[in-house]
Amino acid sequence: MAKKLTGMDIFKLLPKTNCGECGVATCMAFAMKLAQKNAELSQCPYASDEATKVIGAASEPPIRLVKIGTGKHAVAIGNETVMFRHDKTFVHQTAIALCLDDTLGGAAISKTAADMEAYAIVRVGETLRVDMLCINNASGDADAFAAAARSAAANFKGALMLKSASVKNLIDCSTAVGDRAPLLHAATAATVAELGAFAASAKLPVCVSAQTIDEAFGLTDTLAGKGHRDIVIDVAANNCAAMIQNNTIVRKAAIASSVKQMGYPIVNFITGRQSAADMVADASSVICKYASIVVIDHADKDALLPLLMLRQNIYTDPQKPIQVDAGIYKIGDAGPNSPLVVTTNFSLTYFIVSGELENAGVPVHLAIVDSEGMSVLTAWAARKFNGEKIGAFLKSKDVNKQFSSRKIIIPGYVASISGELEENMPGWEVLVGPQEASDITPFMKKFAKV
Ligand code: SF4
Repeated sequence: MAKKLTGMDIFKLLPKTNCGECGVATCMAFAMKLAQKNAELSQCPYASDEATKVIGAASEPPIRLVKIGTGKHAVAIGNETVMFRHDKTFVHQTAIALCLDDTLGGAAISKTAADMEAYAIVRVGETLRVDMLCINNASGDADAFAAAARSAAANFKGALMLKSASVKNLIDCSTAVGDRAPLLHAATAATVAELGAFAASAKLPVCVSAQTIDEAFGLTDTLAGKGHRDIVIDVAANNCAAMIQNNTIVRKAAIASSVKQMGYPIVNFITGRQSAADMVADASSVICKYASIVVIDHADKDALLPLLMLRQNIYTDPQKPIQVDAGIYKIGDAGPNSPLVVTTNFSLTYFIVSGELENAGVPVHLAIVDSEGMSVLTAWAARKFNGEKIGAFLKSKDVNKQFSSRKIIIPGYVASISGELEENMPGWEVLVGPQEASDITPFMKKFAKV
């Protein structure tokens, strides 16, 4: 196990000059932040070589970063440091991999791969998509396996995972997909020496497949002992509850007890479920509880969408509200005489309000006020979205010169600030809009007729 350094251990290694260049007032305060993994040693320009070596080794994330694939389409997993999202944040979102048996045939695999390549959902400014394809050597035949992998690689730019019980088939197939650097599944007790040696020489990430956590411990130890640490753990489980239990034990061993042999990302196979709904239920559970890759076998959009949205929600940083840049955005063919609609810079608010305004087809300017990523009512309660702040923001954008409409529409939930805003914006009329976004379209259409 790696020794966990306390704040005092770290403090002893720092220069103790309290210069403040790291952004905190004293070396002791900085040591405490390092111990809580809320700072990087590189923030101290005066750290000695010894401090860099000792603290650097101790501050290495307890779960190894593993990259699958190459270039901008590579998938990064691992590097996690906490058990619970609210402790800090989860780092790399669960990669969603669609499993395709090589018995499906080249045409079907090519079509599904192309469908997955084209499938993308934009939500609150992020593009959500399937990250990986897992080609399963269900036929047991080396040529069919390689042909299926080639069909997938030709039509899908994301990462690949190759799954076979045969080491020879895995080696041949990884060669067939050229420089795609696939994840190999899997090294077992019987094959860890042979597959591990190949994966190490080819610099490919490899899964270990074990019946028990103890067995997985031995397999990762064997691979790491030979210098190969780009490992993903797969522990067998009969049902979703057992899977979550295994995942939690592995994660806790790595993070709370610094057990190096457990410090690798986890893959879960959610395949063979009776229905897409069963698959979504189980996959959702392991996305929440520590799967770095979830392999599924339903490509229906109805099944993919909830998984992609859940994953996005789990893997946003709870300490950083998703926000858009403050500014005045033109909606439709807005001109100087179009009204200003005001709201906060919480991403979800921005995208919902702008979408409804576009649907309404009435040209407006959408003024997004910096509310530190809070929604309307929260920002109002925190005094980040009141007449004074909105007035100051609009004046900073020179609206008196740029716009002639002299009409500002505010969200219905903050009707109480209308008087204060009119005081801060002399010559402007403040209108109270609807409370709910779904009422924006009828409100704007009525507004346009007046
Ligand atoms: S920059 Fe380094 S020396 Fe200066 S206060 Fe921070 S930790 Fe101490």
